Amino acid sequence: MKQKTAPTPSRIERRGLVLILSSPSGAGKTTLTRNIANAGGWGLDLSISVTTRERRPSEIDGRHYHFIDRRAFDDLRARDGLLEWAEVHGNFYGTPRSPVEQALAEGRDMIFDIDYQGTRQVRKHLEDDVVTVFILPPSFSELRHRLERRAEDSPATIEKRLANARNEMQRWVEYDYVIVNDDLDESFHALESIVAAERLKRVRRTGLTGFVDGMLAEPAS
Ligand code: 5GP
Repeated sequence: MKQKTAPTPSRIERRGLVLILSSPSGAGKTTLTRNIANAGGWGLDLSISVTTRERRPSEIDGRHYHFIDRRAFDDLRARDGLLEWAEVHGNFYGTPRSPVEQALAEGRDMIFDIDYQGTRQVRKHLEDDVVTVFILPPSFSELRHRLERRAEDSPATIEKRLANARNEMQRWVEYDYVIVNDDLDESFHALESIVAAERLKRVRRTGLTGFVDGMLAEPAS
């Protein structure tokens, strides 16, 4: 008689993971998030936010953000189309709800580049599925250098972002993990470890019950 075998762990379903990265502007979070999402292999879909901020020259509509005006933003919000939203540096940002709900329903993991206000809201909605990482710059002066090097914002905008950075940086205590982004490669490795460990967490491995039960039901010899 052919023996019934338990499903292998790789085929076992698990709950989707919502990975949130936050940091003050210029700490390198956007580079990290986009490289992770583009690298494939990581299996993380990037959530594309809507924003009322002006598009930077290097940005592509629909890829970096969906650039919309204030009226469209208010409409979306009124229709409950945003999972979370916040005003950051005088502009509005929000996470469209339906792509996230669809991805999670299909068991896909998602990565978000959102601020601390949005993180609080997503945590409230999705609780156990949320893993949060705060990215700190190696120093405040390095933060300024990075913003100036990027040269995509006006001097007044840079000053505003630096002033806000002091407030944003204090939120690191609300996060599960903290990475000081001194070296991009090292930060990638740190993130890789976080994702790997979080995917193995017992609470996420809902399908394991059937796997273990199947194994226990197997004859000993
Ligand atoms: P930036 O204008 O530099 O692209 O982003 C400014 C800040 O807004 C960053 O801290 C970024 O994480 C945050 N942000 C971007 N998209 C969203 C969003 O959908 N929701 C929230 N709450 N913050 C966002």
